[in-house]
Amino acid sequence: MTGIYIHIPFCAKKCPYCDFYSVNYQKTLVEHYVRAIIRNIQFQEISDEVDSIYFGGGTPSLLTIQQISEILETCDKSFHLVQPEITLECNPSGNRKIYLSQLKKAGVNRLSVGVQSFSPKELAILGRTHSPEQSKTFIIQAKEAGFDNISCDIMLALPEQTETILAETLENLTLLPIQHISAYLLQLEENTPFFTNAEILSRLPDDDSAADRYLQAVHTLERKGFFQYEISSFAKAGFQSRHNLKYWQCVPYFGIGAGAHSLMNGKRFFCPKDVNAFCTDNTQKTILLEENACSREEQFMLAFRTTDGVPEEWLSISAREKLPLLEKNGYLKRKPNRRICFTPEGFMVSNALISLLSLP
Ligand code: SF4
Repeated sequence: MTGIYIHIPFCAKKCPYCDFYSVNYQKTLVEHYVRAIIRNIQFQEISDEVDSIYFGGGTPSLLTIQQISEILETCDKSFHLVQPEITLECNPSGNRKIYLSQLKKAGVNRLSVGVQSFSPKELAILGRTHSPEQSKTFIIQAKEAGFDNISCDIMLALPEQTETILAETLENLTLLPIQHISAYLLQLEENTPFFTNAEILSRLPDDDSAADRYLQAVHTLERKGFFQYEISSFAKAGFQSRHNLKYWQCVPYFGIGAGAHSLMNGKRFFCPKDVNAFCTDNTQKTILLEENACSREEQFMLAFRTTDGVPEEWLSISAREKLPLLEKNGYLKRKPNRRICFTPEGFMVSNALISLLSLP
């Protein structure tokens, strides 16, 4: 089954740590952009069945209900949809009760909410414009609107993040009616204001403290019934993200919009990060990234990001000889189905472990 990714690269305000492609929200530009998205969907010929549509950003929740409905109606006419999981990324803000209920009626059945933290201090550091109370209200209103598949993003290893501050965020989060959590370590990306902000840099935790916060999150979430299925992803049973699983399992997905990436027919390609060009072209121009994607090496690396892991027979004999010691030291698990996966401690050093196990 193929997935469809629709990139909505507009934000009300740029966050100082974010390097995703997005531009400032402008009503008229967004209207042109949505028309271009619709033209591109109509133009695509995807014969495979589609079981996932993902609106990512940017901030897709800046779109109006009418814009989202038109995009989904076009998908319905153009693709062979099979009970698709339809996710929309959103930022919590103000009273969105009516919006959320109309969103559900339009066919969106999963939300991914950018909560990031329940500490007002951390939200201020991140330059986020919402409050912890707004996150709670947003999620409760989403539940009341009928959403029973809600994911939240949080961030780990933030400047001066203590065990207590993170514990409060995790406690607040897991009391809410949500089914999925993505917990990302803050990464300093070049070309973002954080990268050169001396004050931020001086307040970042060292590697050991960052690892402690990661393990704290993994163990707390597991105790609360959210099981880790990928380095940064946790879900209640049956609520793994269909869209994200496609990335790690090398399943095809087609991306539409400026900056969107695709994996189709064994090739990886992307549409340039240029909203204006995307709006004026009749069909999106793409640039080839990889002619022969999903090599055995790539599948090996991607599968090791998940707790499904890799089949033991993918390893060389010399790599298999290293397994008992790595298992004894708590870095990996050998499962009864003869697959191997990393433990949370192993995920923290996954690059080194993958190199070690890739050796012939
Ligand atoms: S973090 Fe989200 S809301 Fe902030 S700039 Fe990036 S895409 Fe936009």
